[in-house]
Amino acid sequence: MRLGTVISVAGPLVIAKDMNTAKIYDMVTVSDKHLIGEIIEMRGDKASIQVYEETSMLGPGEPVYGEGEPLSVELGPGLMESMFDGIQRPLDIMMKKSGDFINRGIQVTSLNRSAKWNFEPCLKPGDSVSHGDIIGTVQENSIVQHKIMIPKGIEGTIKSILQGEYTIEETVAIVEKKDGTEVSVCMLQKWPVRRGRPFHKKKMPERPLVSGQRVIDTFFPVAKGGTACVPGPFGSGKTVVQHQIAKWADVDIVVYVGCGERGNEMTDVLNEFPELIDPKTGQSLMKRTVLIANTSNMPVAAREASIYTGIAIAEYYRDMGYSVALMADSSSRWAEALREMSGRLEEMPGEEGYPAYLGSRLAEFYERAGEVVCLGKDKRIGTLTVMAAVSPPGGDLSEPVTQATLRIVKVFWGLDSSLAYARHFPAINWLTSYSLYSSNIMSWLDKNVDVNYSTCQREALALLQEESRLNDIVRLVGYDSLSHEDQLKLEIAKSLREDFLQQNAFVDEDSYTPLKKQFKMLSTILKFYVLSKQALQNGIYLKDILDLPVRDKLGRIKEIPENNLEKYEELQEIMAQEIKELIQERGSRG
Ligand code: ADP
Ligand code: MG
Repeated sequence: MRLGTVISVAGPLVIAKDMNTAKIYDMVTVSDKHLIGEIIEMRGDKASIQVYEETSMLGPGEPVYGEGEPLSVELGPGLMESMFDGIQRPLDIMMKKSGDFINRGIQVTSLNRSAKWNFEPCLKPGDSVSHGDIIGTVQENSIVQHKIMIPKGIEGTIKSILQGEYTIEETVAIVEKKDGTEVSVCMLQKWPVRRGRPFHKKKMPERPLVSGQRVIDTFFPVAKGGTACVPGPFGSGKTVVQHQIAKWADVDIVVYVGCGERGNEMTDVLNEFPELIDPKTGQSLMKRTVLIANTSNMPVAAREASIYTGIAIAEYYRDMGYSVALMADSSSRWAEALREMSGRLEEMPGEEGYPAYLGSRLAEFYERAGEVVCLGKDKRIGTLTVMAAVSPPGGDLSEPVTQATLRIVKVFWGLDSSLAYARHFPAINWLTSYSLYSSNIMSWLDKNVDVNYSTCQREALALLQEESRLNDIVRLVGYDSLSHEDQLKLEIAKSLREDFLQQNAFVDEDSYTPLKKQFKMLSTILKFYVLSKQALQNGIYLKDILDLPVRDKLGRIKEIPENNLEKYEELQEIMAQEIKELIQERGSRG
């Protein structure tokens, strides 16, 4: 339907007049090339339209069309293994149609209309249904079972339900409403991206999302359904952290939003992810992944939309009762897109030119994370964990995007350029990072991994903090001024840093550490501390303790395979033995 006429074009912002019938956040298409856009402001009959494609050939006088619908995502079988741009256009089909550079106004549907999916009903005629009830399943690929749910606004009893191969637009069930009218249900649903999908109730997240990254799981854990941010300067390891979590986290589904980072970085993701083998299934990681790629060479406005496209898809899988992880790299690029559009709208700028609503937009986004009881009679539980990188210019954490993010998220993994420079990876600073889920998750770890988990964690963290205090003293008055007790603390802290915290993402044996092994590593290092302290009390020289042969073995503690955890017990016995011998030797010398 024709709505109005373009009067001006400034980059991605198009102003149109005679738009009385349109509303804010309606989706429109501009000119006869049908460039996709969204109304982001209405003033009288003038609409400001954020256009998601290159606008350079556009001019005044061109028509604007629209159906009065908000910008929405398509939800249904076929999402898994897909790569989309910021407004959910499939990248592979667009590339085929237009080559590497995406042409304007390409008309493609997000999900394949001709593919057939085997629908297996789980309800029968006469069953009552309402929003969120699962009526059947589709094996989306060898790993993901897709649940077909009753969409919003439908309530009644099943009149008929089919079984067999259907496209996403074909009817698979007919529901008779209370008033006697009938509605057909197909496997395709739409959802407006900017609105969170509803759920029954939100719970306090308290189970860990296990990433296999030791500094994260043991020291600064994130809960399934929680929120985390990874701020850090260029090259400090934000992308590697997010990739590691995407690869290893114990979740069912991963949605990865590459938001405006350098083009070649996203190409890496597009090439690398399909090759990655999912450790849980032995199959391609892509089978349970959706990629949204908006690189910096794509129009800025599509970046702004991409995190919403991603989170709406993530919520849809959460609603099936799955645990979902959403990664966004980087939220700063998203905020810059917001700033650019705000500037073009000539809004009153806030701090550093960001709009005053930056904080509330970020909060609305992160609030869509959570552990929820889903809609539907079976009261299934789904979780959506949201983790985003932040790239503060120059690594300065006082800038508005980082500050606004820190006020919202519950976990802060602060990456440090000096650690990255010293090649301590992951360069997560253990003195400044925090997790507000820590106390809940530590109780979980005590119950489910080892009763001493939280005690060891606290002790290790205290030693690392003590190290920083002692180092200040060393800088002032020198190492030799420290007592042997304190010098031992420095040695153990060094071992915690090098043998526990440092974890190489690119070495197979080190890339992932299960919780049991994390605990064994930590407790073994701390055991050495306890034994060494006893030795010092028995008059043994620190140097003799540090020269013990077992120290070599301790330095290679990462290499002990996870299926051989008794090796840690053995190591602890060797430690005890060698220290006992030291003490006996000294005793016999008198
Ligand atoms: P950013 O996204 O913050 O700019 P990257 O994630 O691209 O930084 O990391 C930069 C480089 O740091 C990587 O290419 C890699 O060489 C190194 N690096 C980061 N994290 C790790 C890690 N866990 N193990 C090994 N190397 C790492
Ligand atoms: Mg990066």
